[in-house]
Amino acid sequence: MLPVPKPVEASALEADAAGREMFELIEALYPICRSITGDGVRQTLRLLAERFPLMIHEVPTGTQVLDWTVPKEWNIRDAYVKDSRGNRVVDFRKSNLHVVSYSVPIRRRVPIEELREHLHTLPEHPDWIPYRTSYYTENWGFCLNYTQYLALREKEYDVLIDSSLAEGRLTYGELLLAGETTDEVLISCHVCHPSLCNDNLSGIAVAALLAEHLGRTRRRYSYRFLFVPGTIGALTWLSAHEAELHKIKHGLVLANLGDRGPFTYKKSRRGNAEVDRAMAHVLRHCGEDYHVAEFSPYGYDERQYCSPGFDLPVGCFMRTPEQTRPEYHTSADDLTFIRPERLAASLENCKSLVAIFEQNAAYLNTHPKGEPQLGRRGIYRKLGGPDLETGNLALLWMLSFSDGRSSVLDIAERSGLPFRTVQTAATTLLEHGLLTQLAES
Ligand code: ZN
Repeated sequence: MLPVPKPVEASALEADAAGREMFELIEALYPICRSITGDGVRQTLRLLAERFPLMIHEVPTGTQVLDWTVPKEWNIRDAYVKDSRGNRVVDFRKSNLHVVSYSVPIRRRVPIEELREHLHTLPEHPDWIPYRTSYYTENWGFCLNYTQYLALREKEYDVLIDSSLAEGRLTYGELLLAGETTDEVLISCHVCHPSLCNDNLSGIAVAALLAEHLGRTRRRYSYRFLFVPGTIGALTWLSAHEAELHKIKHGLVLANLGDRGPFTYKKSRRGNAEVDRAMAHVLRHCGEDYHVAEFSPYGYDERQYCSPGFDLPVGCFMRTPEQTRPEYHTSADDLTFIRPERLAASLENCKSLVAIFEQNAAYLNTHPKGEPQLGRRGIYRKLGGPDLETGNLALLWMLSFSDGRSSVLDIAERSGLPFRTVQTAATTLLEHGLLTQLAES
């Protein structure tokens, strides 16, 4: 006899579909040559704007943003190193990582000794192309795998970098999903890396699907999504929105969310913000390995959001942190380095986090003298199923600590139960008049 097929949970199917959708988005964005400015960023944002009403902002070169200045705009059409027979021995068309980002234009024959000063390789990983930038020093260069480098035996080569570095604009994307209140949750990711999947495209894809998910749900908070070039983009946005930063109650930077490593949450500079407690709680119950790290002034744009003059409650959610894997900033961070199911699990944790922001509240037990008789009210029967025991336990925890001082998250933490279970208990008790919600402070 054939075994009876097991029913598959709808949420698992949804996660599979979301994983595939994020992977497909990454495949579409992968070939684009992005940098901190230029048409690659515009093209990336235009693709996102097909999915949701993304505002695309353009800020002119020379604009003062805090202690920085918006740089010249960089664009590139073609680049190569050609040997004497006309073969492109290093070819931008094969990989956009071959050119140092922000390389100034060059077109001339270059002696090998001089060329070598402009070449970057990774001898320890001879098949990988490194990713290098030169944003704030005008220079040119090529990145190539070490095997290619060793094969350069001629005395001189024809070098072309058909780029432009000129007055232009810095481009970033912003999506505001208005909620019932003007209190905001900030979600930010960087959009400035060329063909690198985990570092930049995974964050973009998870942010995009989180935005779509929130777009379909009722929202207490307003959600502001930023798709910005790293550092200079975040600084540009902060500089223009200083007067409104008090609205941001919680925030998260998304990066490196598609690899096979365990989850990492890096706390905000405050260290005890609600986002820090809520994300640690989500990860404790996510069923995968994870690590919660203290804030450090290194990493992604949490550096800017958490700088002491702003000190926003913004943490950073990742799998493998930057620079702890050899694939980081190399051609090995490609489509094989990330997995749809890894992206999907990352997205699920983001959804669980925003569910806490949306639902967390403090309640008051209306029958605090002795335990109210739950059986008489039929509350036990209502729960049923395999979660009966934890469900009943959650009712008791909610009743015991709904003294006006503890939120659902506090009670979930104290009981060791998942937020969702305690929240369900709170809803049941509220429906039976055994709790009242306290006015929000
Ligand atoms: Zn990076």
